[in-house]
Amino acid sequence: MPNHTAGVAVLPPATISNEQLPSAGIKGCTYIYAPAGQAGEYAPLATNPYRGCGHRCSYCYVPGVIKMKRAEFDAGAAVRVGFEHGLRRDAEKYQAAGCRDQVMLSFTTDPYHPGDTELTRTTLQVLRDHGLGFCTLTKGGTRALRDLDVFRPGRDAFASTLTSLDDAFSQKWERGAALPQDRLAALRRFHAAGIFTWVSLEPTLDTDSSLRIVEATHEFVDLFKIGRANYLPMTRSTDWQEYTLRIVALCQRLGVRHYIKKDLQPFLPAGYPNPLRVPQHHGPQEAW
Ligand code: SF4
Repeated sequence: MPNHTAGVAVLPPATISNEQLPSAGIKGCTYIYAPAGQAGEYAPLATNPYRGCGHRCSYCYVPGVIKMKRAEFDAGAAVRVGFEHGLRRDAEKYQAAGCRDQVMLSFTTDPYHPGDTELTRTTLQVLRDHGLGFCTLTKGGTRALRDLDVFRPGRDAFASTLTSLDDAFSQKWERGAALPQDRLAALRRFHAAGIFTWVSLEPTLDTDSSLRIVEATHEFVDLFKIGRANYLPMTRSTDWQEYTLRIVALCQRLGVRHYIKKDLQPFLPAGYPNPLRVPQHHGPQEAW
């Protein structure tokens, strides 16, 4: 029986707290690293095989972060020089340290960008070979299905970012990405194969769209990670408190797991259970 806080039903969290988890990064490793800031809310470890991304999202802040000209970044992804060698070297260190965390691909590119993504498959295999889990976060939709056989239900996760279910909206904001229905098709296939799936609802460009996404996908999505947009003029007038309360009420009504990111946490009802890390796989709970 759920309890209620400020009118919002609160399901008991089927989760483990962040304090129970080993922390992540190993000093000197730069190819497998512990992301900081907002990215750190998504994963304890990450790796970025490419520089650039051909999805050409208008809201993408990565070119500024990695100091790359937007035109060059948007022109397409290129393999990072020395990546595979560096990845193997870092993976050996994590294995020697007994780390079995999930490594996320990727924060500064998309693992299933429109170009050659063979290195993504190699990366997943290297992580597996060294005892690590992995999670891919992509707007590449069914391009990811090529690697479905590499994912393990008990260790890995597949995730997609969704900002809208409307093709025209997506084509305006994410010009080179897979269309929303293609991303949904990928989530369905991974879910049907027993792989843990989650959706990133960030950036939230239109709050009603995010609510519709939860309604439309919750039957094949295991977890929603919900954030906002801080730097886009179109959301300056958004009532983030109203959105937060509406989306947690919806998640509660549908009985779906969700994580509210730090930017929206001030709008949560007091005491709302919102652990930073939950197991993103269908295996034993001690492995992330
Ligand atoms: S998919 Fe991600 S990395 Fe690629 S352009 Fe869009 S926001 Fe940037």
